[in-house]
Amino acid sequence: MDRFDFDLVVLGGGSGGVRAARMAAQRGARVAVVEAAALGGTCVNVGCIPKKLYSYAAHYAEAFEEAAGFGWQVEAPRFDWATLKANRAREITRLNGIYRDLLKGAGAEIVAGWGQLADPHTVQVGERRLRAQHILIATGGTPFMPDIAGAELAISSDQMFDLDPFPKRLVVVGGGYIACEFASIFRGLGAQVTQLQRGGRILSAFDEDISRFLASEMGKTGIDLQLNAQVERIVRQAKGLHLTLADGALLDADAVLFATGRRPNTANIGLEALGVQLDEDGAVAVDAHYRSSVPSVFALGDVSTDMPLTPVATAEAMALVDHLFGPLPGKPARSVSYENIPTAVFTHPPVGTVGYTEEAARRKFGDVTIFRTEFKPLKHTLSGSSERTLMKLVVDAETDRVVGVHMVGMDAGEILQGFAVALRAGATKALFDSTIGIHPTAAEEFVTLREPAVD
Ligand code: FAD
Ligand code: NDP
Repeated sequence: MDRFDFDLVVLGGGSGGVRAARMAAQRGARVAVVEAAALGGTCVNVGCIPKKLYSYAAHYAEAFEEAAGFGWQVEAPRFDWATLKANRAREITRLNGIYRDLLKGAGAEIVAGWGQLADPHTVQVGERRLRAQHILIATGGTPFMPDIAGAELAISSDQMFDLDPFPKRLVVVGGGYIACEFASIFRGLGAQVTQLQRGGRILSAFDEDISRFLASEMGKTGIDLQLNAQVERIVRQAKGLHLTLADGALLDADAVLFATGRRPNTANIGLEALGVQLDEDGAVAVDAHYRSSVPSVFALGDVSTDMPLTPVATAEAMALVDHLFGPLPGKPARSVSYENIPTAVFTHPPVGTVGYTEEAARRKFGDVTIFRTEFKPLKHTLSGSSERTLMKLVVDAETDRVVGVHMVGMDAGEILQGFAVALRAGATKALFDSTIGIHPTAAEEFVTLREPAVD
């Protein structure tokens, strides 16, 4: 008799876990996926999807204002937070159902509850013991809340989607992806937003031109962005929350969002007892095939990666399934290339980026040529908006290869996806130059940049 009930038990039904479970089950493996909350994980429930829906909602504020320049008379629009929340919740419930159907359709068993590793081949969920040849940890991450006085009065992004009532005055702490996106969204929806970043720039890992330009554009939308600002204390007062900053400045708010990073979910799942090693950031340490220090235990996605993005988690899942159960018929086994991973920040205006920042390229290649353009998009010649667009190419001077493409402006995420393919293909600046533009678009600027920037 088989020692195992399953070939694969997946702990966590988020982006990475569901993809791995579904693909493995489709290959005929006996699979169970253990999920303590809602299927789909962070991305579907409190991440990418609801965030993007709220970003669309917020963009209507600009659209109503800009419509007049195009001849539309729009009566004073009124925003109803309850309607947006209810419609979002309905859509997320629909997606939860789709995830359930996909897993069941592929033949995977869904086990509801909190799972823990009992031994290298056993996951315990309540009374149930699931014996598995392979165990996959795909438990994702959790918001990190800094240890300051009154931190318990603040909330994380998990609580932002159902906030009640709508926060008229919102303080956002942080300058990363989540802080910038939520500052833009809630500003667009009508909140008075103050954003406090501890360092001298927002999106500190991004190209410096992008950080500065975005800060200026977000400022134009009415966000009060304060750099080198640290919260020291939060207290509750009759009229809301009261913040004291390190420099003594005082602020009042209805809600305080800490968007100060996320940490891998490695607690209370039995890793210590089994001797599963973590790296210096607290993530599960894995080899090139996502195997942990315990040979039957694998990990991927936010719990182990330093690129916590949904497409990275799903790509890792497909590579792992190919490794454990063999590739698709006639196809080579997939692996993940961590070079040139494109990413977008859904601020208003959004950011899209792929490849090296100017600073990193100078360190890596030495001699780099920069091409940069900044302009008022055609739409805003009539819209009355003062929003501008920045586009930038970083070129390795020796090989002429384009090694970085960066943009702040309308549709930046949509535009950058295609340029990511060009970068991965090793496109040179000469190839960019010989590509015919699509007119009139903003994207065509990327193939018509002729003169290097002079700083
Ligand atoms: P998760 O999706 O977090 O799934 C982990 C699952 O494991 C959860 O469902 C959890 O309940 C479950 N779990 C944990 N422990 C246990 C246990 N012991 N037993 C049972 N179940 C357990 N990425 C993008 O690419 N684009 C975006 O626009 C984007 N926006 C984001 C916005 C926000 C506000 C946040 C927070 C994240 C965003 N991300 C975005 C990141 C993206 O959501 C994550 O990278 C992705 O969800 C990681 O997938 P995962 O499978 O590793 O983990
Ligand atoms: P980030 O790492 O992007 O940003 C964290 C921010 O918090 C930084 O500005 C950091 O400052 C600041 N910070 C860290 N610790 C403290 C502290 N103790 N006190 C004050 N400020 C602090 O994390 P997020 O939480 O924004 O997002 C987590 C991850 O989720 C992202 O890295 C991204 O991979 C993913 N994500 C992706 C999205 C997308 O693809 N559009 C959207 C949302 C999330 P400093 O800059 O000085 O380090």
